[in-house]
Amino acid sequence: MPRQFFVGGNFKMNPTSSGQLGSIISVLNSADLDGTTGIVIAPPSLYLIPLKATVRSELQLSAQNCYYKDSGAFTGELSPAQLVDANIPYVILGHSERRTLFHETSEFVAQKTKAALNATLKVILCVGETLPERETGQTAAVVQNQLQAVVDVLQESDWSGVVIAYEPVWAIGTGRVATSAQAQQAHLDIRTFLTQAVSPAVAENTRIIYGGSVTAANSKDLSTQSDVDGFLVGGASLKPEFVNIINARN
Ligand code: PEP
Repeated sequence: MPRQFFVGGNFKMNPTSSGQLGSIISVLNSADLDGTTGIVIAPPSLYLIPLKATVRSELQLSAQNCYYKDSGAFTGELSPAQLVDANIPYVILGHSERRTLFHETSEFVAQKTKAALNATLKVILCVGETLPERETGQTAAVVQNQLQAVVDVLQESDWSGVVIAYEPVWAIGTGRVATSAQAQQAHLDIRTFLTQAVSPAVAENTRIIYGGSVTAANSKDLSTQSDVDGFLVGGASLKPEFVNIINARN
């Protein structure tokens, strides 16, 4: 079975009013969207429940983060069980902003990934190297280390709930997109790693999406790469061009 193309919109801590959010959603609700693409949007968590009532059924909702415990004295956190109870199917984990600004280690990301999957959430798992790491030839090793922490705690069957987002840190929010060749190579390296670290079936079936300054203009070429199964989009997911990115293969 071919892997279903998958496009996620990570709104991050945007927008700052429900009026602006309404404008973004109304563009998506009225657009002609590629029906074969899996589409997920991740607004700030306080908008998740109200959006369930207003967003079209083809768009699934994702949280931008969660903790690994079900409940308790963890001020400011959201649990996998709470997301499941609210019928939110996805969560983004390991985004570089969480790894860098909030000091999340790969082991912590792995622990949260396991807890989210155990709770029946699907996980968009982000990995990627910094610019110095790329420039010193460490891209594959860095990404593999990030993934190894997750491999260590998951069972083979867990991987059916994971979408891997390869997001080079130097490309996130910078306007400096990876070339199609760079993205393809990194995705192929991830698939090769999964073949030996997990199984050939998991390597073949797991979606690996690219994130980092994706726009309507560059998404078409990126989408032609055989190991690029879609996109995780930050800034451009807040703009009407997100529709063109969703429809990149048309
Ligand atoms: C992201 O935050 O996941 C991202 C890819 O951001 P941007 O598209 O703005 O680079």
